[in-house]
Amino acid sequence: MECMIAKPSKGAAGKTGLWRTFKPIYHPERCNLCQLCWLYCPENVIDVSEDGITIDYEYCKGCGICAKICVKNAIEMVREEET
Ligand code: SF4
Ligand code: SF4
Repeated sequence: MECMIAKPSKGAAGKTGLWRTFKPIYHPERCNLCQLCWLYCPENVIDVSEDGITIDYEYCKGCGICAKICVKNAIEMVREEET
């Protein structure tokens, strides 16, 4: 049976990079490519490839769900002014 996963359209909340308070920072050396962050990101701004994940910061709203869901602690939320 075919498995379908509904995903929101990218950037449904508009370009959020300007007002975001926290920014997810990726640590590729910890990542096991499980794709949970891709699955749970409500903005659909995470892409996963064999080289790791990429985050579209123009549309990421800094909600931190990806960092919470990552069991490898490969995503860290950092204040914008510290990046
Ligand atoms: S949830 Fe964490 S370990 Fe899994 S793909 Fe995302 S960053 Fe990598
Ligand atoms: S903080 Fe993570 S889960 Fe939230 S919008 Fe940005 S990439 Fe997606």
